[in-house]
Amino acid sequence: MAKYDYLIVGAGLFGAVFAHEVSKKGKKCLVIDKRQHIAGNIYTENIAGINVHKYGAHIFHTSNKEVWNYVNSFVEFNRFTNSPIANHKGRLFNLPFNMNTFYQLWGVKTPEEAKKKIEKQRAEYFDIKEPRNLEEQALVLGGRDIYEKLIKGYTEKQWGRPATQIPAFIIRRLPFRYTFDNNYFNDIYQGIPIGGYTKLIENLLDGVEVRTGENYFDRKYDFDNLAKKIVYTGKIDEFYECQFGELEYRSLYFENELLNMPDFQGNAVVNYTDREVPYTRIIEHKHFEFGTQDKTYITREYPHEFSKDNEPYYPINDQKNQLVLSKYQELARKQTKVVFCGRLAEYKYYDMHQVVAKALELSKKVQNNG
Ligand code: FAD
Repeated sequence: MAKYDYLIVGAGLFGAVFAHEVSKKGKKCLVIDKRQHIAGNIYTENIAGINVHKYGAHIFHTSNKEVWNYVNSFVEFNRFTNSPIANHKGRLFNLPFNMNTFYQLWGVKTPEEAKKKIEKQRAEYFDIKEPRNLEEQALVLGGRDIYEKLIKGYTEKQWGRPATQIPAFIIRRLPFRYTFDNNYFNDIYQGIPIGGYTKLIENLLDGVEVRTGENYFDRKYDFDNLAKKIVYTGKIDEFYECQFGELEYRSLYFENELLNMPDFQGNAVVNYTDREVPYTRIIEHKHFEFGTQDKTYITREYPHEFSKDNEPYYPINDQKNQLVLSKYQELARKQTKVVFCGRLAEYKYYDMHQVVAKALELSKKVQNNG
């Protein structure tokens, strides 16, 4: 007789929401994670009184009221609004592209002036009918100034190759905003959990049996026999021993510094958009929670090749990887005991609100099926 109804591999956001929901309905769950901590990639660690986003900056944003009310029922969210700054060769610009940015670029003061200026810049590339790469696409959509100052260097660093070698489809449109609004997201709700994301996951997993430092593959046979069903949120290729090859990712390298000063850059996120600065952005974590500590903690973010020694962050959903993925998905469909969910098992970039919605959906589905 299996001891648990569910073995949940991964104590990240997906695993935690699912475990909470089915436990509430009386199901017995065991959650394991190979890391030494819960919360997956949204893990925050308190350093010198500052909640540090250890796997990259995370801002919760959604227009889904059910999801927003759900996460707020576990932890209070603050009113943080993401308003990143771009630093290009020492000059600062507001993001996303809005009237502040256009004023800083060209001194234009009205939406009409800004539109005229952009149209004039775009017109220089009217002969590019079908952009062959990201550079051409960005020039056609936004003109030279925006491309060279705010897109080129940043994107080349992110992808680790020249913009002329990056596919055009990466940028489908450039979201221009003709108001003086620096809010990066268009969603209705936005904020950061007061006290950090780890608190959100701790509260979700309250009363659920959790074992950290446990890799599913180290004792797969034992774990499989412990539960009736498995919700697997790890990498799908790893589950199948990479028999069709490894799925590729872009990774990140973080350089952290605790500084003996109250404020380093006056903003949570500053992007470095020129090619010469090797990192893409600096995160100053205290600003996510309006911190007033004497010290500050900053993280320089460097895009990095993915290997066994670093984390899989961004899936590379090109044709080659999609083909490999489809072979694993074919095998996954035949599994009766295991469900593959979350960003790694689905090889998909999901924002947090999407992960919460998906986990709630799955928990409802399994309850309806008994
Ligand atoms: P994860 O958090 O990765 O959880 C999976 C867990 O499974 C991990 O803890 C892992 O250790 C564990 N695991 C894997 N294999 C095994 C195994 N064999 N045995 C045991 N455990 C295992 N979203 C937003 O909404 N806003 C943002 O601002 C934002 N910023 C982001 C910034 C970066 C740099 C990245 C990469 C993502 C960002 N996201 C953001 C997306 C967000 O991180 C994800 O939506 C979320 O973390 C996915 O949760 P998950 O549970 O699917 O995956």
